[in-house]
Amino acid sequence: MPIQILPAQLANQIAAGEVVERPASVVKELIENCLDAGATRIDVEIDKGGAKRILIRDNGCGIEKEQLALALSRHATSKIGSLDDLSAIATLGFRGEALASISSVSRLSLSSRTLEQEQAWQARAEGRDMQVSLQPCAHPVGSSVEVLDLFFNTPARRKFLRTEKTEFSHIDELLKRLALSRFDVAVSLKHNGKLIRQYRIAKDLDKQLKRVGAVLGAPFIQHCLHIDNRHDDLRLHGWLGLPEVARAQNDQQFFYVNGRMMRDKLLQHAIRQAFAAYLPEELHASYVLFLELPLEQVDVNVHPAKHEVRFHQARLVHDYIVQVLGSALAKLPQAESSADLW
Ligand code: ADP
Ligand code: MG
Repeated sequence: MPIQILPAQLANQIAAGEVVERPASVVKELIENCLDAGATRIDVEIDKGGAKRILIRDNGCGIEKEQLALALSRHATSKIGSLDDLSAIATLGFRGEALASISSVSRLSLSSRTLEQEQAWQARAEGRDMQVSLQPCAHPVGSSVEVLDLFFNTPARRKFLRTEKTEFSHIDELLKRLALSRFDVAVSLKHNGKLIRQYRIAKDLDKQLKRVGAVLGAPFIQHCLHIDNRHDDLRLHGWLGLPEVARAQNDQQFFYVNGRMMRDKLLQHAIRQAFAAYLPEELHASYVLFLELPLEQVDVNVHPAKHEVRFHQARLVHDYIVQVLGSALAKLPQAESSADLW
């Protein structure tokens, strides 16, 4: 075969392989877009575990009619403009690939209206060249993305979808993670027409703790420490579950770096080390923790799904976490007799 440039749809489908693993990954990308658009309310509707339909509506800034086609194109983003921007990324997205990828493996429509526009518009990209068509629609200020029939044209991917229940539970888990990352945003989740979750805006610490309780359960909030530590330009805050609420599984570990949820080896290692004297090997700590540090000290462009980061001063960050959590735990009354606890 001679060398040829791939049609846009095929190129996008290949890129989709990296970010669109299952319905939950679609939901993640779309919600991150809502947050980047400054939304304070996000409503998610799922049908049949997301394989049939995913609808995400926000009250963010919206997209101008003239930009809608671009939003669906690959490598098109409003979030970075130069290599310099890449070294201090404040938004969750920046690769300009999600909408193009998702629309290449589903029937996607994007509806949007900005404050300046009277009329809302809906865009779809179709065919091998992903030509975008626009039509007027009804929509309040903000955006909605509807994704129908995920993987309908990529049977190899569709085959990997699990049951409706499993796919939905991945979405629910994801929503919990997102809900804990932004107390200032209201989030709702419906499945097959039924309201499953509703997180209201939580301004003060009490209300935030309530949201934490809605996600991690009552025992966690009865047995947790609130921490808030600043040191130079590092800040670590959130809630640390006491040894009483440690678990056999590591399913209650929520860690955010500059608002981005992370599953990072270095961070997990630091937390485990802080708990070493208080928890037996086979138990996992529960926590909701937020690490904040200057944007230019972390590289988020490590993995397409962005759940790993690279810290410029990895050792320093690691030791800071060990020290803050370690000294919080050491102040507990049980600390001296912790060995007897087990
Ligand atoms: P990225 O988020 O990496 O920029 P996406 O493909 O996810 O790439 O989105 C492309 C662009 O479309 C974004 O940069 C943004 O300008 C716009 N966009 C996407 N979703 C929304 C939304 N919900 N509200 C406003 N703008 C959006
Ligand atoms: Mg995005």
